[in-house]
Amino acid sequence: MRAAKAFGAFLGGALTLPSLVMLSRLPATSTVLEDHRPVSGRSTTLTGVVRTLAVDTVTTKADRFQDNYRQYLVVGDQSYQLKGVKARSNTKVDVVGTISGDQIHATSVTTIDAELAGVPTTGSTRTLVMLAYWTSPDSLTRARAANQFFSDTSQWFQDASYGALKQSGAVTDWMPIAGPTRDANGDPECYADSEGLMAQAKDAAAAKGFDVASYDNHVVYFPKCSGDSINYAGWAYVGAPGAWLNGNLDRRVSVHEQGHNYGLRHSHSYLCNGGGVGNACTFGEYGDPFDAMGSSSYVGHFNAAQKSLLGWMDAGRVVDLSAGGTTTLSAFAAGAVPPQAAVVSVASSTRKYWIEYRQPIDYDAWLPSSGTDGLLIHVSGDGSGSPDAGSTLVDVRPADDISEYTATLQPGQSWTSFDGVTISAGLAAGTTASVSVSWETSLYPLTTAAAGSGSGTVTSLPAGIDCGPICSARYTPATAVTLRATPAIGSMFAGWSGDCSGYAPTCTVTMTQARSVGAAFTTTSVITYQEGQATFTAGWNSSSCLCFSGGTARWSKAAGASVVFQFNGRNVSFVSARGPERGAFLVYVDGAFRRKISNYAASRQSAVVVWSRDFETSSPHTLRIVVVGTSGHSRVDVDAFTVTTDT
Ligand SMILES: [Zn+2]
Repeated sequence: MRAAKAFGAFLGGALTLPSLVMLSRLPATSTVLEDHRPVSGRSTTLTGVVRTLAVDTVTTKADRFQDNYRQYLVVGDQSYQLKGVKARSNTKVDVVGTISGDQIHATSVTTIDAELAGVPTTGSTRTLVMLAYWTSPDSLTRARAANQFFSDTSQWFQDASYGALKQSGAVTDWMPIAGPTRDANGDPECYADSEGLMAQAKDAAAAKGFDVASYDNHVVYFPKCSGDSINYAGWAYVGAPGAWLNGNLDRRVSVHEQGHNYGLRHSHSYLCNGGGVGNACTFGEYGDPFDAMGSSSYVGHFNAAQKSLLGWMDAGRVVDLSAGGTTTLSAFAAGAVPPQAAVVSVASSTRKYWIEYRQPIDYDAWLPSSGTDGLLIHVSGDGSGSPDAGSTLVDVRPADDISEYTATLQPGQSWTSFDGVTISAGLAAGTTASVSVSWETSLYPLTTAAAGSGSGTVTSLPAGIDCGPICSARYTPATAVTLRATPAIGSMFAGWSGDCSGYAPTCTVTMTQARSVGAAFTTTSVITYQEGQATFTAGWNSSSCLCFSGGTARWSKAAGASVVFQFNGRNVSFVSARGPERGAFLVYVDGAFRRKISNYAASRQSAVVVWSRDFETSSPHTLRIVVVGTSGHSRVDVDAFTVTTDT
């Protein structure tokens, strides 16, 4: 058990201890049932595969901020929404937890296999498309489904991947299946019973002679299902086989859902006051209107950052301008002559700026002019505003409006990021555009880093640094920048390094040159020592009470009676009792008098911290408490000491 930063520095009033006796870890009750269907409400262990399901609504624009991803534990043809513990997706795990309906509340997750194969993103992917119904088929024909997946969508992927990926496979006839589970009202649960539907479709396909396991990906299409999926166009696992199409089949849904299967999250936008990335920003989950993983009804190419994740930007298709320089970009959808994008990596950060030039050709042919009249800039990594690997489209032309539709950098325009990279759009000549990148050298960089076994954040005034994720920023020469270190719960700040020193929570550096500052955080634990672990002089009595830490305390009324407690830590707290009969004591630390404190109070309080002190480092010290012998109310109790140590 880990406590927060002990009980702070000295306390104006008494503070009740949250837990004086360290709780021992309770044994986990795990029951492996004979039947793998677990019993609701009982702790159980399940072995399964962690999957992340992305669900897409029919009207994505209204859904910009919805929580689109849910993590599931798939056990055979059952799946449970995984709650309580975050697990890595696409791994095989043992989960200890409690089942409640279709959720498992996990208390621990143990990885068995972290290397489950996904769907290959290059080569020729074989997909089995299964047409399944439980009432009656809809108007989709096998021929039209085959044309959509293996002609139109396959060509889209070939174009978008510059020839790296194509799709082949087979489509089944319409197959009757039992259908989804029903809720209490009798409504179908197509979304909640995804694994059940998939298993039924695979069984039906196998019965028709399909070698189901030989396919890289499995898609089940069914007539529009109401119930829990009435607003959903489709859903798919991220980075794993499995897509469900809810009565929708066109290029948009087939590209998007399979984009999830290949491993992509959505393509976002991040619109900030003043443009670029910085302050007062609005995040859009599907915010990139020019990208099939965003809200593009035009089914535009995946952006360069997304393509890079799929391994499609190798072979010189993205040119690295991190050191500055100029290049000529081909139109993004024109596959013949690289480069199709440029990238600028920011030192000591995971942040990258991606630059692409979209033109209305090939599968980008339907893009609106607002996406093709200049360069599009995306940001990935620290500071991009994205909660996942999907990059964000940023508006680098703020003068007109802050919008995804006025976001391009037009020929002749420049934009400088908060961290000092300047991107300039050169002449656009038909299907090419020139771009140049330089670093703002009139600003000095301030780079911060957190170190140590603990964790915490470093922020700055003036703003700029919010570490993490933004650990470096550039400032006008001579600016005085105040940094503040804030430890996370369970950690303590353990001092500055580099261009700062000392242990105060804030530090100011003057930017007369490039600066670098480290902030150390250590993890801590709080240990309670009962009074028996201290050394008492004569004149002390013992007392038992459930109200005391550990059930006992010693007390004295004799002036001059004292107790010595030796410890090694970065905080010590004296646990005593207050009340109408309690009196004053003196505190000495390492032989030096610190202060006189009275435990007198109108009402009784037990097991309270009456004095506490922080030290800059974890170190050995001696604490001595001396009874004053106050007239009329002289009693001083020694109940316990707590010590915060680095772990
Ligand atoms: Zn999606």
